[in-house]
Amino acid sequence: MDLLKKLSELPGAPGREERVRDFIKSRVEEVADEVRTDVMGNLICRKRPTDDSADAKRVMVACHMDEIAFYVRRIDEDGFVRVHNLGGFDTRNLFARRVRIETRSGDEIIGNLNPSGKPYHMTTEEERKKIPEISEFFVDTGLEEEELRERVRPGDPVTLVQDFVEMGELVSGKCLDNRAACWVGIRLLEQLERTNYDLHVVFTVQEEIGLRGATTSGFDIDPDIGIAVDTTLAVDIPGVPNEQQVTELGDGTAIKILDSYSVSHKELVDAFIELAEDKEISHQYEVLPMGGTDAGALQRSRSGSKAITLSIPTRNIHTVTETIHKGDLKATVDLLRAFLVA
Ligand SMILES: [Zn+2]
Repeated sequence: MDLLKKLSELPGAPGREERVRDFIKSRVEEVADEVRTDVMGNLICRKRPTDDSADAKRVMVACHMDEIAFYVRRIDEDGFVRVHNLGGFDTRNLFARRVRIETRSGDEIIGNLNPSGKPYHMTTEEERKKIPEISEFFVDTGLEEEELRERVRPGDPVTLVQDFVEMGELVSGKCLDNRAACWVGIRLLEQLERTNYDLHVVFTVQEEIGLRGATTSGFDIDPDIGIAVDTTLAVDIPGVPNEQQVTELGDGTAIKILDSYSVSHKELVDAFIELAEDKEISHQYEVLPMGGTDAGALQRSRSGSKAITLSIPTRNIHTVTETIHKGDLKATVDLLRAFLVA
């Protein structure tokens, strides 16, 4: 799990995925036939069909590199950094978080993220019930205002900091949404000896703010088949009734039927289920009432493509304690590989 640990601990705010991209590029250059970065920053890794035929179908596998994060909005007169969020944070999960500011000179400044206001000892019960807005949060870097203004400016990315850990068969860390899929994409390229498709594994940018990288790279590649790999809700935890569980950790890769951005193409759903059954790859079905993946962009690209998502069940999604099962990761690679060599 060293590879996933590295991926998880790298910063990659939407629009500032360069460190994740550079790392992935160094891992895939040897195993892909072609690697290039497009104007938005998508990393496009191509594997040509083994029997080079002009009519091989184009498959695009999309794994987004970005994570929900912040940009510096302003620096206050008293030297605190105010932030603007990119992507969906639940502010209840943002109290007392360590963050990293990537400055334009390339160095990093560590700080503490907290909501403005009084500490516990000084608040009334009423005040403690109030959930703050993101605009009320600030970062304390410990630096004097003058130094801070010299080193930090609006637009510098601010990402959460968290160690990646193994917990039995589970692993936990920040932004496994969607570095878990980046891991799958890298492993797929490493393990795929041959394919009948003209395969493009694309590590996309800016998914968390509207599937933007998949929209442009999908237009470029114009795939016949689009497959997004992403995380999905596993609400197999206390306080959620069974009937509301979307997926369950350890039950295998989730073959998405639909979410609020795409309905998976029936032919692909059938093909993936049949393959998973045939090859005895652990799998489950996913019907997600809210949210979406890059498949939503691929399905609508140009005149459309057949699209589907394979999901990795994830607990505590969009927190720094995102947790997944190693077996589900492996099942996702196995099913993709089975599809691409079939
Ligand atoms: Zn995601």
